[in-house]
Amino acid sequence: MLLQSCEKEDEIIEVIYWYLPRLFPNTRGRVFLNDESSGQSVLAFAWPEEENIRKEFPVKDCPALLAGNVVDGFESREKGCAGCLDGGLCTPFRQDKDAFGLFCLDGNDKKKLSSECKGLAFITTEYLSMAISNIRLKRKLRDLTILDPLTSLYNRRYMGGMAAREIKKAKRSKTNLGMIMVDLDYFKRINDRFGHDGGDEVLQKIAALFKAEVRSEDIVCRFGGEEFFILISGGEYTSYFMRAEQLRQKIKALEIVWKGQKIDPLTASFGVAAFPAHGDTFDRVMKIADQALYLSKEQGRDRVSGGQDL
Ligand code: GH3
Ligand code: MG
Ligand code: MG
Repeated sequence: MLLQSCEKEDEIIEVIYWYLPRLFPNTRGRVFLNDESSGQSVLAFAWPEEENIRKEFPVKDCPALLAGNVVDGFESREKGCAGCLDGGLCTPFRQDKDAFGLFCLDGNDKKKLSSECKGLAFITTEYLSMAISNIRLKRKLRDLTILDPLTSLYNRRYMGGMAAREIKKAKRSKTNLGMIMVDLDYFKRINDRFGHDGGDEVLQKIAALFKAEVRSEDIVCRFGGEEFFILISGGEYTSYFMRAEQLRQKIKALEIVWKGQKIDPLTASFGVAAFPAHGDTFDRVMKIADQALYLSKEQGRDRVSGGQDL
């Protein structure tokens, strides 16, 4: 029941961190979860907590993870998992046939595990596999509905909902919100010269720059095509303008190489507006930011304009 109420993977780990040592008394245990991006299996927790436990190891070095099968170091001479010291019982967490982590169990003072204990370990691992896979699946589905697939920035629909919430919060706390609209200049030329894939690469690089530059409490979205939108909570109008100016310069300085070819320096035009200075709803403020962006385009591109310039 407790596991079913978990919404995030971290919460599941907290629950099982409490639960597993109690379910398996007089044992030493470790739980590893694979990190797809690094190819490592990473220690989530261990009991008892020992200093010299390997905190991570390559998935490819671990027979239990590679085969997705149980490796019972008590019964065979086969080497257990790479994170296990003397070959205890290593049971992989699996989704379908793919192993995504391990539950390693050993008796205290190298005592063998009873067959009941092993049986319980198998059932527990099956159960945890389902619980963790469920959470991961939910997360993937959520990402599909809120993220733009090319850049992994939030999509426009999600931004709409978030902005409405942020406006309410700002009204309650009587604080400001900044809105920055960005449109890449002459982006069509990039596609014409480097092909659509080259254009996609540029969009991904710009998105990565935005992610690196905004604070965690701000929200960046891909508004459509080569347009982006940034929502900043708190602060003052002048700081939003300065942030836009910094981003403009960083985009201009960005060096992008595509299939060995250097892509021509890119510029972007910006429009900045603030809540409540330029309107009392999201749509009104966004419209001002959009008009300011078009002013930047009209005046020659590669510049920042604000609500006060209109
Ligand atoms: P301006 O300075 O006036 O904004 O000129 P622009 O060329 O950037 O604007 P325009 O609206 O003429 O062209 C935008 C281009 O962006 C056209 C479209 O093919 C391209 N585009 C939109 N979405 C994507 C995408 O996902 N990938 C790639 N590669 N190109 C895209
Ligand atoms: Mg555009
Ligand atoms: Mg454009």
